[in-house]
Amino acid sequence: MDVEALSGIPQQVSTGALPAWESVEELVREAHRRYTDDRSGTVADYIPVLAEVDPELFGLAVIEVDGGTHDAGDALHPFSIQSISKMFVYALAIQEHGHQRVRDIVGVNNTGLAFNSLMALERNAGHPMNPMVNAGAIATTALVPGATAVEQWERIREGLSAFAGRALSLDGVVYASEAATNERNRAMGWLLRSYGRMSGDPDEIVDVYTRQCALSVTAHDLAVMGATLADGGVNPVTGQRVVSADVCRDTLAVVASTGLYERSGEWLFEIGLPAKSGVAGGIVAVSPGKGAVAGFSPRLDSAGNSVRSQLAIGHLSRALGLNLFASAPAATVRTNA
Ligand code: GLN
Repeated sequence: MDVEALSGIPQQVSTGALPAWESVEELVREAHRRYTDDRSGTVADYIPVLAEVDPELFGLAVIEVDGGTHDAGDALHPFSIQSISKMFVYALAIQEHGHQRVRDIVGVNNTGLAFNSLMALERNAGHPMNPMVNAGAIATTALVPGATAVEQWERIREGLSAFAGRALSLDGVVYASEAATNERNRAMGWLLRSYGRMSGDPDEIVDVYTRQCALSVTAHDLAVMGATLADGGVNPVTGQRVVSADVCRDTLAVVASTGLYERSGEWLFEIGLPAKSGVAGGIVAVSPGKGAVAGFSPRLDSAGNSVRSQLAIGHLSRALGLNLFASAPAATVRTNA
């Protein structure tokens, strides 16, 4: 992403709370307008059906921890969640098994390699290294409780629905398209098994993983899901507790360092927020204690991250003062208020 594009936006500090609802609303609309004409990047085509999407779609949503909602453009247009599911399934796995066990099995470090790298597994004796790349995500899916793959899938669908505050369903067309072409992920499942890193049937586990990636969401849903992690695990729209506050902290820490694949360091340096992307064009960024910003637009950069979503979220991070690393002396902030 070209961060020069953000250079005109004043950097507000993260000290304090979000601006008033009306100001947030105006900034969300402005961010949407500003990047509508950016047509850079290309739509993912390694999952055949994703190549057929309208590349012009562009939605933006912000949900505040007090339940305040902002939607712009195609914020209610459905698309498949893809890799963004990884962060929420990871949260469910830690909720079930605890911090240390999941850390030992899946790891928390960046691989420095593409999200679907087999080499990363081979280099580390089959240890997946982190849960946001495919190998680690498949190993994480294997940890979801359930006596059968069907039960595990139901548990994931229910868990992600609780994050979203509505019943999410499978996009059967995306699922079928990916299931017919996911040899690489199946290879990863078997490689994990060959190293003794995963129990269970690799084909069944990869099938559950493929289903979780094909869950249909909107940018609005992603913002509610992210806002639940920003709100100590309580969904700010439904009021339901989904995971514990500790689970949110663990999940956001790992997402901050690995959520945008090999661009994660650059993103954290420029934007300063944990964020997770998916190849269908979604990105959700979480501002702990404040809320979440989600974007959807199908054209991607070379690492597989939506271009317009990155720009619009980057814009809002600056304008709303979400960068976790940007502070100012509290006295100054109070005087300026
Ligand atoms: N389902 C996709 C895959 O496993 C998810 C990848 C992504 O969104 N980056 O390849």
